[in-house]
Amino acid sequence: MRVAAIIAAGGQGARFGGGQVKQLRPLAGRAVLEYSIEAFRRASGIDAIAVVLPAAVAADPPPALAGGAPPLVLVAGGARRRDSVAAGLAAIGEDADVVVIHDAARPLVSPGLIERTVSAAASHGAAIAAVAAADTVKRGGGGRVLGTLPRHEIFLAQTPQAFRVDVLRDALALEPDAEATDEAMLAELAGHPVHLVEGDARNLKITTPEDLETAERLLVPSGVRDTGVEGLRIGNGYDLHRLVEGRPLILGGVHVPFACGLLGHSDADAVCHAVTDALLGAAGAGDIGRHFPDTDPAWAGADSLALLARAAGIVRDAGFAVVSIDTVIVAERPKLAPFVDQMRDRVAGAVGVERGRVGIKGKTNEGVDATGAGEAIAVHAVALLVRQW
Ligand code: MG
Repeated sequence: MRVAAIIAAGGQGARFGGGQVKQLRPLAGRAVLEYSIEAFRRASGIDAIAVVLPAAVAADPPPALAGGAPPLVLVAGGARRRDSVAAGLAAIGEDADVVVIHDAARPLVSPGLIERTVSAAASHGAAIAAVAAADTVKRGGGGRVLGTLPRHEIFLAQTPQAFRVDVLRDALALEPDAEATDEAMLAELAGHPVHLVEGDARNLKITTPEDLETAERLLVPSGVRDTGVEGLRIGNGYDLHRLVEGRPLILGGVHVPFACGLLGHSDADAVCHAVTDALLGAAGAGDIGRHFPDTDPAWAGADSLALLARAAGIVRDAGFAVVSIDTVIVAERPKLAPFVDQMRDRVAGAVGVERGRVGIKGKTNEGVDATGAGEAIAVHAVALLVRQW
């Protein structure tokens, strides 16, 4: 079964106020949109991902949308949501069996919810994530209650929404009188049954600046006060790579101009590798070799910053948030100070924390040992996590 994902990020966010579009606003150190992309990459069985963006953003995309696997197909959106979805479908969906659509304004979607929705759509034709109403729901108008709806029949629709491709084509071909607010509504009007998949209260929709603060609170550690010291976990990571001619020197996701680079199966970014091990170690989730074995051709020449982002996802899934990270790079040459802040930005972005939680320091080894002789660069890292649930 071939599954294509369309992440709808084409909206202008009128309810959010002016300035930058909400899906590109920073949320705990990364753009809102990046969280959805990461969730779809971590979900199993997603073969292609299209991101539908405002035309101006699609023409000049931010660097965070480059690289990664599967590579993103960037598409300029249309006037209405359904036009944007149709543009995404035309870009990647032609040979898909199931198409899953997600709203980029829901950054906290979990890979598990994506997988369950896709699987239900494969069996039933169409499926959406939805949560049962917790509150009593009233109809109202003119400042008065006009009626009470039977609560057990009320479900609040979320995304992801997934469809067999023939069902989605039928749905998009309809031209209903009223504006459709989601793809499921079009599928219903086209006469296709839509299956309900139990959604997730955490999968909130960011509509206002207050929603962004709520999402930030869900992502960022609330501190030791809430969990006690027993909620804290510390991890240690170490890595060393040999310096050789003819390779770029990549440290903390930054290309440092130098005559030599680090030798390795991936891009040999020892900073990312040490931090990855510190994070995985703190969460009791194994090590970099277990998750990204260097015998696996998938990781040959891999962008270690992307591996670090995946490790941060593993740590989040295990119920932890990152409090802080600190590293020491042992390198005789070159001088790293001019690049340190850029490395902190890249590492913080990959992990999903603000720069202030990431320390990176350069040290020489006073000419002693292999690092001191300039034959290798070594990195030590520690990470502190706090349990969130
Ligand atoms: Mg390494």
